[in-house]
Amino acid sequence: MKVRFETFGCRLNRAEALAMQAGFESRGWETVDHARDADLIVVRGCSVTGRAQRDCEKFIDMLKRSFPMKRLVVTGCMKEKKNEFILKDVPKNEIPMATSRAYLKVQDGCSGGCTFCTVPRFRGRPVSEPFEEVVEKTRRFIDAGYREIVVTGCNLSLYDFQGRRFPDLVAAVADAAGENCRIRIGSLEPGETTIETLHAMAGHANVCRHLHLAVQSGSQKILKAMGRNYNVSDVEKIVAAANELMPGIAVGCDMIAGFPGETVPDHYASMSLARKAGFVKGHIFKYSERPGTPAAGFPGEISGDIRSKRAHEIAGVIDANRVNAAKKLVGQTVRIVVEDASSTGGWTDGHFWCSRDMKRQPENAIRIRRREFADMRVTGTSGHALVGVVSVGR
Ligand code: SF4
Repeated sequence: MKVRFETFGCRLNRAEALAMQAGFESRGWETVDHARDADLIVVRGCSVTGRAQRDCEKFIDMLKRSFPMKRLVVTGCMKEKKNEFILKDVPKNEIPMATSRAYLKVQDGCSGGCTFCTVPRFRGRPVSEPFEEVVEKTRRFIDAGYREIVVTGCNLSLYDFQGRRFPDLVAAVADAAGENCRIRIGSLEPGETTIETLHAMAGHANVCRHLHLAVQSGSQKILKAMGRNYNVSDVEKIVAAANELMPGIAVGCDMIAGFPGETVPDHYASMSLARKAGFVKGHIFKYSERPGTPAAGFPGEISGDIRSKRAHEIAGVIDANRVNAAKKLVGQTVRIVVEDASSTGGWTDGHFWCSRDMKRQPENAIRIRRREFADMRVTGTSGHALVGVVSVGR
């Protein structure tokens, strides 16, 4: 039997898709590259915004029209529609396929009360994967040759398995990974990000100097309306502590532009926070109403054009930060996991793309295969991409 996976949305969804795919394959299914060749089509949907939900629905409708005789399963963060079957059980086998990174899902669900969010409704209350199983999966990823493992979950900091919390997990996973594999921590909620987590990251050289915070707004008034459980000053404190413990750490953020009631000063506060905190990477969403959420009924709706304009402006601030941060790396040696062997291109631990400087090193003198580490001395930038000379590969 043949199966085709179509995946939308975040790292968590992708991690779960890979886990499902591995589960199917362990049961003798073949994964195919096109829906037309499949007996079963699995769509992992995303409803993080109304737009994302609509895009998934359009795609599903297209599949139904194009392949009316095929069995279709919709899973992930999607609302059930007529004639769709929502798969509840994810197969447990979690060795992923040939991607450059392994995704390690350690937690699911959330008990937060954010007024714009449907995650608690779709994914339920927080559940943590057994501690020892997570460590064992890490070892299996390393045995399979991965050089980077991304730790994912809905609200990672809520990890709690029999009293072992997220900082314990970060330390255990990093210890298990050893020096031949690096660990990237997925997006964290500022309200639950503790100094212990930052210490666990800082205490392990193989944890990427990269922190992604789901900040959402730089306006205290809007954070309150969103039902977020932290202040702007909490975000600033986390960023300051991260920089102190891990100098040069790359900090990214999620932001929502145009939440109901957001005034021009509120929007400026978001841009100001992005500038002050030095966010170098951003997932900037235009606010999108989710039916059934409290925020969908809030007054002070912002027009679509203004939402887009504000999102664009926040992205502009972050882009400028990113270009400056890239320039500061010139002269330094960075380690990448090679994704493209021909250009010796790959991501640094701070999530900057770095490839071989073709002027200085036109020939790939030291041939480094995909998924291997390479050390690159950065010789220049192109926007926020880096170029460098390969010094060591291993
Ligand atoms: S903390 Fe995150 S996942 Fe939980 S309700 Fe808020 S936005 Fe949703």
